[in-house]
Amino acid sequence: MSGGRFCLSVDVEGLWGLFFVRAYVDDPTLASGGRDALPRMGRLLEERGLAGTFAFVGHLLLDACGPWEGSAHPEIPRPTYPWYDRDWYDDDPGTDEARAPLWYARSQALAIHAMGHEVAAHGFAHAILDESHVPRAVADAELTSAQAAAVDAGLPTLRSFVYPQNVVGHVDALAAAGYGCYRESDAGQPARAGPPGGLQRAANLARHALAATPFVGHPMVRDDGVVALPSSFPILGREGLRRVVRRSARVARIEKGLRRAATEGAVLHVWTHPHAFATEEALDDLAAVLDVVAEWSERGDIEVLTMADMAERARAG
Ligand SMILES: [Zn+2]
Ligand SMILES: [Zn+2]
Repeated sequence: MSGGRFCLSVDVEGLWGLFFVRAYVDDPTLASGGRDALPRMGRLLEERGLAGTFAFVGHLLLDACGPWEGSAHPEIPRPTYPWYDRDWYDDDPGTDEARAPLWYARSQALAIHAMGHEVAAHGFAHAILDESHVPRAVADAELTSAQAAAVDAGLPTLRSFVYPQNVVGHVDALAAAGYGCYRESDAGQPARAGPPGGLQRAANLARHALAATPFVGHPMVRDDGVVALPSSFPILGREGLRRVVRRSARVARIEKGLRRAATEGAVLHVWTHPHAFATEEALDDLAAVLDVVAEWSERGDIEVLTMADMAERARAG
């Protein structure tokens, strides 16, 4: 019987996770704030002796690509969606990290790895692996291209996968591509594929503001050995309406989750994006949350694990 466990996973995407909303490309302030915040997030964990999982869009693990004549990465099959009418790689600048640091971030992945955190995959080009629109070949290419980019960067095999937009699909492709686990959607509720902006937003915000006791769950080992890791909720930044959620409510919600996870021998798994921490105020929120996690960990009441280590534990029974 395992005790309570905590995991923080961070979806690192640069502009790859944002380009389908054109305003984020036209004004890349949000993505560039995320790039600046990423090493600071890594250090906030490191200073507290905590390891996290940073799931990079695989393309970010490249230090350069192209230049391309015509479409970028022509050998990679494209996803197509009813809500997006351009080629998925249209924005790929075909250059390098120095010139386009929101499309390449190898130096950041290596720095995160050097801090002792897990580097994981968040697709290769952030294709949303919605099985109703995306064939298996696109999923295979996303999974294997990310691994190839990791090898090229000199990183270890990527063991964990975080689905873009939390749309879980083609799970049976993970094992062959070398992945041992993935993050489920929050509370196992199917996520919707498409540009951001959902009906659920207001209800979710209320749950944060009221510090509602979060979902905790248990890892599930599939027949192929791949582990489905439960997911609880996203740690919010302070953009727009999210600023109404007070720091005390953010900390209280984490504490409620840690207590529940410890009591039930379950996993509290929270996730976020670097661009949520583009302000000092938001970074201070994260530090306050991690202080509480570190206290619980130091008391021996909760164990803090990366996704890959949590999966290994689950497979060992
Ligand atoms: Zn490229
Ligand atoms: Zn993403």
